[in-house]
Amino acid sequence: MNRNEQLFRRAQQIIPGGVNSPVRAFGSVGGVPRFIKKAEGAFVWDENGRRYIDYVGSWGPAVVGHAHPEVVEAVREAALGGLSFGAPTEAEIVMAEVIAEILPSVERLRLVSSGTEATMSAIRLARGYTGRDKIVKFEGCYHGHSDSLLVKAGSGLLTFGNPSSAGVPSDFTQHTLVLPYNDTAALEACFAEYGAQIACVIWEPVAGNMNLVKPSAEFVRLLRGITEQNGAVLIYDEVMTGFRAALGGVQSLHGIRPDLTTMGKVIGGGMPLAAFGGKREIMECISPLGGVYQAGTLSGNPVAVAAGLKTLEIIRRAGFYENLSARTEQLVKGFKEAAGQAGVVFNADCVGGMFGLYFAAEIPQSYADMAASDTEAFKRFFHGMLDEGVAFGPSAFEACFMSAAHTPELIDETVAHARTVFNRMAV
Ligand SMILES: *Cc1c(COP(=O)(O)O)cnc(C)c1O
Repeated sequence: MNRNEQLFRRAQQIIPGGVNSPVRAFGSVGGVPRFIKKAEGAFVWDENGRRYIDYVGSWGPAVVGHAHPEVVEAVREAALGGLSFGAPTEAEIVMAEVIAEILPSVERLRLVSSGTEATMSAIRLARGYTGRDKIVKFEGCYHGHSDSLLVKAGSGLLTFGNPSSAGVPSDFTQHTLVLPYNDTAALEACFAEYGAQIACVIWEPVAGNMNLVKPSAEFVRLLRGITEQNGAVLIYDEVMTGFRAALGGVQSLHGIRPDLTTMGKVIGGGMPLAAFGGKREIMECISPLGGVYQAGTLSGNPVAVAAGLKTLEIIRRAGFYENLSARTEQLVKGFKEAAGQAGVVFNADCVGGMFGLYFAAEIPQSYADMAASDTEAFKRFFHGMLDEGVAFGPSAFEACFMSAAHTPELIDETVAHARTVFNRMAV
C-alpha cells in the first residue's frame, strides 16, 4: 500500500468515510483520495510525494494561488497578535468597507465563518424581514447544508421540497419550493400561485455546484423583476462566484442589484470566513438592531480576516481578472481543440476564474441536462488526468478553478496532458 492508501484506511477507522466533507472521498469517481501534504502556487503535493497541477483550488478560495507569500505573511502577523477575541476589531470594519466598495449592492454586511452560515442567516433574515415563510431555490444549486436548503427536487415542474438528506424532517422543507434552473415558465407559474407567500429566491447566479451552468439573460431579468413585483427578497448566493467570476461577482456582470448577497470561499483566502450583506433596511432587521437572531463565537476571526483582506488587496490589483480570465479561456479552448481532434464528445465553458468541463455535445442549461451527460467518460478523464499529474474535483458535478499562479506554460502543459487522455479515451 502507498501512503495515500494507508492514510485512507486509517482515516476510515475514525472519521466517517475517512473524510470531513463527502465529495473528498472520491465516491463518484472511485479510487483512493489523495491526501495533501502541502500546496504552493498552482500545485498540490500528495502524501506519496507526487505533484499535481491543481484545478480544485480548495473549491474556489485559492484564486491567488496556494500559500501566496503575502497572504501567509498577513496570517503570521495577525496570529502573533492573538487568535480570537470574541470582541470587535478594526480589521472587521476595514473588511466590511472593502467588500462594500467592491459590491455596491452591499450597504450593510455581517461576517460569519462559513458559506452555510451565510446562506442560512440570509434566509432567516429574508423570512424575518418579509414575515413570509416560503423560499424558492433551483434544482442543482447548492447553498450549504442547512436544513431548509438541503432540497434538490423531485420530478415535475414545481416540487414541494422533499429533503434530499436523511435527518431533515419534511416539515422543515415544506416551505422550500424547488424549480428547474433557467426555466422562466416555471418561475412565472410559481409566483402566480405563491407570490404573496414567498420570502425570497436564493440562487447561484452562475451555478457551480452542478458543474458550471450559466443562466440566460431572460432568466436573470425575470428573476429580478418578479421578485421586486412580489416583494420577495432576491438573494445572490455568490459564495463561489464572488471575487471569482469577476471582481464584483456575477451581479456586476448581470448589472443587477440583489437585495442580499452571500459570500465565502475567496473572501477568506483559504481561512474560514464568509459574509452576507445587502440593503440596509433588510440588514438592520438583524440582532442586536432587529428581531432576527444571528451570532458566532468565531465570526470575524482576526486571522481569517487578515487572510481575506490581503487576498482582496491582491485581486484588486490592475490586470488581475484580465489575466485570470485569459488563462481560463486558454485552457477551455485548448481542451475543446484536443477533444475535437481525438473525436471525444466534449464541451467546456467558463466565466472569469471558473470553468466547466462537460462530456456532452451541448453546454448544459439545467441540472437535468447535466445529469444526462456522460459521467462514465468523466471518470475516465478524471483518473487519466490524475495519473498525468493534473487534479480536478472528483465529481462530474463540480466546477473547476483557475488561479493567478497558473502560468500560460502550465496551462499548455495541462492541455498536452488532456490531449494524451482524450486520445486514450477515443480508442
Ligand atoms: C461552497 C458553497 C456554499 C457553502 O459554503 P461552505 O463554506 O462550504 O459552508 C454555499 N453556496 C455556494 C454557492 C457554495 O458554492
